[in-house]
Amino acid sequence: MAIRAEEITSLIKEQIENYEETLKMENVGTVISVGDGVARVYGLDNCMSSEMLEFSGGVYGIALNLERDNVGVIILGDDTKIKEGDQVKTTGKIIQVPVGDALVGRVVDALGQPIDGKGPIVTDHFSNIEVNVPNVVERQSVHEPLQTGIKAIDAMIPIGRGQRELIIGDRQTGKTAICVDTIINQKDTDVFCIYVAIGQKQSTVFEIVETLRKAGAMEYTTVVAANASDPAPMQYIAPYAGTAFGEFFRNNSKHALIIYDDLYKHAVAYREVSLLLRRPPGREAFPGDVFNIHSRLLERSAKLSPEKGGGSLTALPIVETQGGDYSAYIPTNVISITDGQIYLQGDLFYAGIRPAVNVGLSVSRVGGSAQIPAMKKVAGTLRLDLAQYRELQAFAQFSSDLDKNTQAQLTRGERLVEVLKQGQYTPVPVARQILIIWAAGNGYLDDLKNDQVVAFEAGLNKYVDEKYAQIIEKINKDKKLTEEIVGLLKTACDGFKSAFTEE
Ligand code: ATP
Ligand code: MG
Repeated sequence: MAIRAEEITSLIKEQIENYEETLKMENVGTVISVGDGVARVYGLDNCMSSEMLEFSGGVYGIALNLERDNVGVIILGDDTKIKEGDQVKTTGKIIQVPVGDALVGRVVDALGQPIDGKGPIVTDHFSNIEVNVPNVVERQSVHEPLQTGIKAIDAMIPIGRGQRELIIGDRQTGKTAICVDTIINQKDTDVFCIYVAIGQKQSTVFEIVETLRKAGAMEYTTVVAANASDPAPMQYIAPYAGTAFGEFFRNNSKHALIIYDDLYKHAVAYREVSLLLRRPPGREAFPGDVFNIHSRLLERSAKLSPEKGGGSLTALPIVETQGGDYSAYIPTNVISITDGQIYLQGDLFYAGIRPAVNVGLSVSRVGGSAQIPAMKKVAGTLRLDLAQYRELQAFAQFSSDLDKNTQAQLTRGERLVEVLKQGQYTPVPVARQILIIWAAGNGYLDDLKNDQVVAFEAGLNKYVDEKYAQIIEKINKDKKLTEEIVGLLKTACDGFKSAFTEE
């Protein structure tokens, strides 16, 4: 093979020209101590706060504490691979995760790496796990509904696209169930879903993934899992990574829903790394900036302005309370950051009222603007009726004979409570919610027994499908309760009622 002289000279010239460019400044430090997922590093003079650092074993960390003579680092990965005296390099970057459509349908860890055995994630899009939140001008107010398919919530505590609604309650009160049902209900809509599991048992997360898969919901869902057995730093960054996935959709004029299950465990993981980094403990031994870590997370959920494409990211953070105490530190923090809360109560759950929503304590600060007008209309009196019912119920226990009016109110309340009960994995489309709530609110269920309500609802739906299918179509199209629709509802309910009572 002949080697030409000009070829060699040109190569040498090129290398000399680029000599300066390949020279890279690298800041290198040494590990002075390591353990429990954190390390202290000496000699990183130009390190930035939250900068990604690379340990010699290929493990990455985040610089969280910048002190006078050392840097406190949380380690994202196996800290047993790191020894005292190892070298640590700065990277000049904030930690990034892959984002984009490639993540849909996948189960990943807090760094966006697949853990579902379905091969690597191939994408050109990467995003910092922490970014600036959209400012006031870049947002618009929440006005489109995000249907959960759960009657009690869509009717009385409606959630809109871009809203942050807290789900709060003691352990085993159905918090996760509400979120899973909401994901399942996004089927055939344009909403992508992200479920972030923080500090849960692997088996629980596995069950949730299986449930979603069986319901066909994994097709539009990403699961981010930082389980109880994962190091605390991974549990700490998992929600930020999950939010980065959601922001990709939000910024591209699409819609996404993110569930954080749950933020109490997230705060506990953060407390663990903070204490290991010797930050001073505050109330309930949480570090002083625990409010900040949650607010900068939840502020990323927003409805963007038309100029910004009008995309949205809706957040449903979950917080577990201990013994119904929602005035504890983390619950009050998150209540004050979110646009409302759905309060689940243990005694309701055990009394068989499921979902165990306490209507009196639950609010949605976005309210009726996140409902279609037809739902707003039928749900208007529902809340009031239920509140009256609860008041009378407490009072009626002591008196034996009640006047007719009180008796009627009690019956109405009882039927409404029955109507709002709902099993898992059975989301109800909004038009059908309107149908049954309208029927209950107009007294069609008053003379039934409680245990007939389920059969009545199923029968009514079937009857409407067979004879008055236009009701459902019209509600979906007009979104308003026109006189025509009310007329049809009346005829349908009358017709079905007489058939039902004859049986
Ligand atoms: P944890 O505190 O353990 O996370 P949680 O509050 O998330 O619990 P879930 O796991 O959602 O509660 O539900 C607790 C149990 O109640 C589960 O077995 C679930 O199947 C059941 N459950 C939840 N919602 C309903 C419902 N609407 N109807 C019937 N059963 C339900
Ligand atoms: Mg749960």
